[in-house]
Amino acid sequence: MGREADQQVAASIGLYPDAALQSYVQRVGAGLAATSERPSLQWTFRVVDDAAVNAFALPGGYIYVTRGLLAHLNSEAELAAVVGHEIGHVTARHSVSQMTKAQLLSVGLVVGMILRPQLQNFGGLAQAGMELLFLKYSRDDEKQADELGLRYLTRGGYDPRPMTQVFRTLERVGTAEGGGRVPAWLSTHPDPGDRGRLIAAAITALPAGQAGVRVEREAYLQRIDGVVFGEDPREGYFKTNTFYHPGMRFRVEFPPGWKPSNQKQAVGAMSPGQDALVVITLANRDSPQTAYQEFFSQPGIQRGQPWRGNINGLTAYANAFAAQTEQGVLQGIAAFVQHEGKVFQILGYAPSTRWPRHESVVTASVGSFAPLTDRRFLEVQPKRVDLVTLPQPMTIEEFARRYPSTVSVQTLAIINEVEPGQRLEAGRQAKRVVGGELG
Ligand SMILES: [Zn+2]
Repeated sequence: MGREADQQVAASIGLYPDAALQSYVQRVGAGLAATSERPSLQWTFRVVDDAAVNAFALPGGYIYVTRGLLAHLNSEAELAAVVGHEIGHVTARHSVSQMTKAQLLSVGLVVGMILRPQLQNFGGLAQAGMELLFLKYSRDDEKQADELGLRYLTRGGYDPRPMTQVFRTLERVGTAEGGGRVPAWLSTHPDPGDRGRLIAAAITALPAGQAGVRVEREAYLQRIDGVVFGEDPREGYFKTNTFYHPGMRFRVEFPPGWKPSNQKQAVGAMSPGQDALVVITLANRDSPQTAYQEFFSQPGIQRGQPWRGNINGLTAYANAFAAQTEQGVLQGIAAFVQHEGKVFQILGYAPSTRWPRHESVVTASVGSFAPLTDRRFLEVQPKRVDLVTLPQPMTIEEFARRYPSTVSVQTLAIINEVEPGQRLEAGRQAKRVVGGELG
């Protein structure tokens, strides 16, 4: 079960494409897991390509940290604190309760929620991957995972004190931060303030000589120098209701005021009343005609009026459709468009009773799919962490002035784990964030 879920995570979120960083996290994780109560489990540690600050575990010993988390930490001891906590969830066999559907929708991640079996090819895989991530532990489980994490941390020879700094950072990042495919840490691991106090007391109470001394600050920072920071615009980004995908060279306008969602396998937007969707996926077929025929040969799908043979100069097979589902009839438009050697499937639909009110904006949105040719958008690059060795002491504000970043000074303070006005000593390595200016 864990292995299948692991494949879903890789497909729906994606692994961070840096083999050296992956093997580093695997090495740190495996070192801690070897000290745990289940040393012979086949432990797997991965970095997922997501901007949110989080870590999570799946049954069977699969543990994930986001690149967003790595960018916010400042030492191997801090990474070990987070990974040790996740190992604790596995070794204690904590069961997880999924968030409610209302919470899922409020996070806005699952574009395919109202799809039913007939349409599951179109949202099913992404949805299955997502469900696994909306895990929420009880407070007691969190406290136990913290205690176990502290145990593995000290057995691994690490200084446990950075663990309290991790809680502080997670608290500062807050629940509002992110916008990634993964929910933020606080929504899956509750109550960091209280837990931070408890763990500080537990660290103080450690018998003399038991706590390790390894921190590995410089070595860790070298590992994450250059790591992508924040959303990666190469994978598509929104400017108000317009979505640009530089990697796949297309743009599309979603209906104004709709809630957008950009996943690895789908981009879409949902109406404010959550009763209509426009969603774009890759059809994985050689021709738009084949994809179109397959779509309309599914049981329960009826073909309506032909729509257009061309969308903004691109070959298209498009048709109105109605789909019989467990929850009634869906009505909409299905378009299959050839672009840059790929076939895109663009679906816009609503329950048939709601379709008349959404039809015109959905139709306009589907018809707005167009090649992206403007170099300002095509050449956009992600933000990246950039290490600077300070030649003299300076506050974080002076650092921000002297070494310009493309994030706010508040963000710099958080990722460097310093307070506003705090002075950084000479010779210290500090993180700034460069690049990522959007077209
Ligand atoms: Zn936890």
